[in-house]
Amino acid sequence: MYNKTIAELARGLRSGEFSSVDLTLAFLDRIKQHHSLNAYITVTEEQALQSAKAADLRLATGNAELLTGIPMAQKDIFCTEGIKTSCGSKMLDNFIAPYNATVVDKFNSAGAVMLGKLNMDEFAMGSSNETSYYGAVKNPWDTHTVPGGSSGGSAAAVAARLAACATGTDTGGSIRQPAALCGITGLKPTYGRVSRYGMIAYASSLDQGGPMTRNAEDAAIMLQTMAGFDDKDSTSVDLPVPDYRAGLSNSLEGLKIGLPKEFFGEGLNSDVAATLEAAINEYRKLGATVTEVSMPSLKLAIPAYYVIAPAECSANLSRFDGVRFGYRCENPADLADLYTRSRGEGFGKEVKRRILMGTYALSAGYYDAYYIKAQKIRRLISEDFKRALSEVDVMMGPVTPSTAFGIGEKIDNPIEMYLSDIYTIAINLAGVPAMSVPAGFAQGLPVGLQIIGNYFAEDRLLNIAHQYQQVTDWHTQTPKGFE
Ligand code: GLN
Repeated sequence: MYNKTIAELARGLRSGEFSSVDLTLAFLDRIKQHHSLNAYITVTEEQALQSAKAADLRLATGNAELLTGIPMAQKDIFCTEGIKTSCGSKMLDNFIAPYNATVVDKFNSAGAVMLGKLNMDEFAMGSSNETSYYGAVKNPWDTHTVPGGSSGGSAAAVAARLAACATGTDTGGSIRQPAALCGITGLKPTYGRVSRYGMIAYASSLDQGGPMTRNAEDAAIMLQTMAGFDDKDSTSVDLPVPDYRAGLSNSLEGLKIGLPKEFFGEGLNSDVAATLEAAINEYRKLGATVTEVSMPSLKLAIPAYYVIAPAECSANLSRFDGVRFGYRCENPADLADLYTRSRGEGFGKEVKRRILMGTYALSAGYYDAYYIKAQKIRRLISEDFKRALSEVDVMMGPVTPSTAFGIGEKIDNPIEMYLSDIYTIAINLAGVPAMSVPAGFAQGLPVGLQIIGNYFAEDRLLNIAHQYQQVTDWHTQTPKGFE
C-alpha cells in the first residue's frame, strides 16, 4: 500500500481496503527498515498514530478531505508546535517550535498524518543534503550518490516510499533539484502563492514552499491545501486559489513550448540532453509546438543569486545569537563571547560562508558594487522571463546539468556545488513557478524535465506534467530494494 499515490490511497481509505492506522503503521515500519537513508531527522510515531486514529474517525463520518489519513512528512524547516524543528542545524538541535507554520496548520486541518520531520541541508543552504548537521541523506537510486538539496530528505523519503508525499522549500532549486535527482515530481509555486509563515527564513524574497510527490495529480492535491493568502505573511498573495485538479485532463493541442537556448549549451551532460529531447518529443506527439527562445541574462543568475541570497540570509540568521533561540555555548566569558562562540559553534561551514559573503556584499563601500548591481541583474532576468513567456506558453529545459553525483564529490568545491543549480536559480529570481517531472534515466539514474510557467500558472504546469505522465511511466518507477 505504501506504493500508492495520494489519490489511490484516498480511494483505498474510502473503500475500506485499509485504515489510516494501517497505512501509518506500514510507513512507520518502512522508515525503521530504511533508517540508513537518513531521510528523517525526527519520527513522530506517537502523534502520527493519534492523528491516524482521528483521521479514521473523520473518514467514517464522511466529512474527510482528500488528504485525510494520508501519511506525509514535513521538511524540518517548517515549525511544528511542540516538536523539534532543527532546520538541519546544530543551532536549532534543541529547538522545540512554539507554534505551527501556516502550511503545517493547513495539513493538520485537512487531517493529513505527519510521520515526522525530514532531513535537509543546514538552513536550506546546499544542493546535496551534505551540509546537514544530521549527516548526508542517501539517494535511494544509488546510495553512494546524493539525493540533491536542500530538500534531500523529502525527495529521498518520497522516492523510497517512506512517506506518501512531503513538503519542500525552494530558494534556488531546493524542491526541483532533489526531485529530479530522486525521480519524483516537485513543484515550486509562484513566489507568494504559499505562506512562508513559520517556514524558517533563508532568503525571504526567494523562499517558497511546495509539494514533492509521486506524480502531478498528487502535487495538485497537496498544492490545493498549501496555497492561499495568509494575513500572517505580508508577501503572500491575495488571489483566489483555483481548483488545481480541474484542468489536469485538458488537451495539450496547440501548446507553445519554448526551449531557452542558454539551457541546452555547454555544461549539459549529453545523456541528460538526449533524455530531455525524447521527453520534448512526447510533447510534440501530444500536439505541442516547440520553438527556441533566448534569455540572454540567464548567465548572470548564479552570480546575482550568490549575492542576494547570502545578503538576505546574513540578515535572517542574525537572530540566532545564543540568546533568543537554540544553541548557546558553554560558560561564556561575557556577552561578546556568548555571541561569537554560540554562532561559531552552532553554525556549520557552508552557513558561515554564506553569512560572510552576505555581510560583505551589504557592507558600506561594497553595497553598490555588489548588492545593488545584483538587484539590477535580477530585474533583467525577470524581464527576460516576461518576454519569453509572452512568446510561448511554457518553457522547458533541464533541472540539473547531470544526474546525481557522488556523496563527497563536490562538498569541498563550493563553486562546483553552486553550479549544480544553474538551471533552477533564475526561476526564483524571477518568482515564476516551475516543476520537475521524471523524464527518464541516464546512466541508470533519474533525469528531471523542468517546466517553467508564467506567474500563477501552477494549474497549467500541473496539466502539462499530468498529460505527460499519462503517456509515460517514468514517475511510477521505484528504486531497486524499495519496491
Ligand atoms: N542550492 C541553493 C543554495 O544553496 C538553493 C538552495 C535552496 O533552494 N534552498 O542556496
